[in-house]
Amino acid sequence: MTVLEVNNLEVRYEMEEEDVQAVDGVSFALDEGENLGIVGESGCGKSTLAKAILGILPDNGYVNGGEILFDGEDLTDLSQDERRQYMWDEISMIPQSAMTGLDPVYTVREQIVEAIETHRRGMEKATAHETVDELFELVGLDPARADDYSHQFSGGMRQRAMIAMSLALDPAVILADEPTTALDVIMQDQILKRVGQIQDEINSSMIVITHDVSVVAETCDRVLVMYAGALAEEGSVEEIFESPYHPYTVGLKRAFPNIQEPDQDLISIPGYPPDLSPPPAGCRFAPRCPLATDQCFEEDPPEVQTNGLRSRCHHVDRIDSDLRPRADEIE
Ligand code: ATP
Ligand code: MG
Repeated sequence: MTVLEVNNLEVRYEMEEEDVQAVDGVSFALDEGENLGIVGESGCGKSTLAKAILGILPDNGYVNGGEILFDGEDLTDLSQDERRQYMWDEISMIPQSAMTGLDPVYTVREQIVEAIETHRRGMEKATAHETVDELFELVGLDPARADDYSHQFSGGMRQRAMIAMSLALDPAVILADEPTTALDVIMQDQILKRVGQIQDEINSSMIVITHDVSVVAETCDRVLVMYAGALAEEGSVEEIFESPYHPYTVGLKRAFPNIQEPDQDLISIPGYPPDLSPPPAGCRFAPRCPLATDQCFEEDPPEVQTNGLRSRCHHVDRIDSDLRPRADEIE
């Protein structure tokens, strides 16, 4: 069953000159219990997409078109106050940095109790406190530590406390924006496994946003690859990493270390993503693409469906089986 559906979403930032078209016509559906990874280079619109879903765009950000359907309701039609009801309760967020998510002035317990009481009016205080104890146990923290302030926590403990907070209201969707960047590799692994276990217990869905494809390979069922504000390719983790059709996905795959092929040489994609105010015509990846033809610079790529993948490329038939553009096609 689909819990969240995003249709043709357009998100922009108002600027003095031209507005930034940060998300441009992105569509996807998230099923119950499913983990969806969103990957793409810095500035491709991942956080903007997340903030639009959560209704927490900055003042100059606005939804220019499209729908965000949750439980059949289009969230883009709701007022700011109505949106706040969904935050934590239905769709919650593990923020990019655990430092930003917790208030240093209150104990961690006070903050979680406050979030629970705001959304569950009439709940007994004692019950809210018990919930905090349970949540701490669930994320592997001693409940006694809930009475501490976040600055008394280590980085890993803070991250766990944020996960506890994001799970406080049994949300249907958990959105994790680069959940692990500040932590070391071992901690990364532990936390993602922990979130995975907890998720199975409450059957929520998760969206994991990262620029690191190995994180997605380990934790997700499906992947959405974004390039310059638009969808490049979408499909199951296996299809995306084993037989992608979009040259950008191929490039991303080769630019990151791969557990299956630890000896593979890492080749970064030459060049940089384009300016989004406004984005260039045609395929946005064309200037960096080894397969680009004149058509790519002129016409928007169609969305092509092959083997369960959705790929926006004029040349899906030119990617060969070993995932590399054919030798004669590289200049
Ligand atoms: P990263 O991997 O670095 O977190 P991202 O994929 O999350 O990048 P976004 O933060 O969504 O990217 O940014 C998408 C585009 O919108 C970029 O071009 C960025 O410069 C622009 N942008 C983001 N926030 C604002 C803002 N408040 N005002 C104007 N432009 C913005
Ligand atoms: Mg971001």
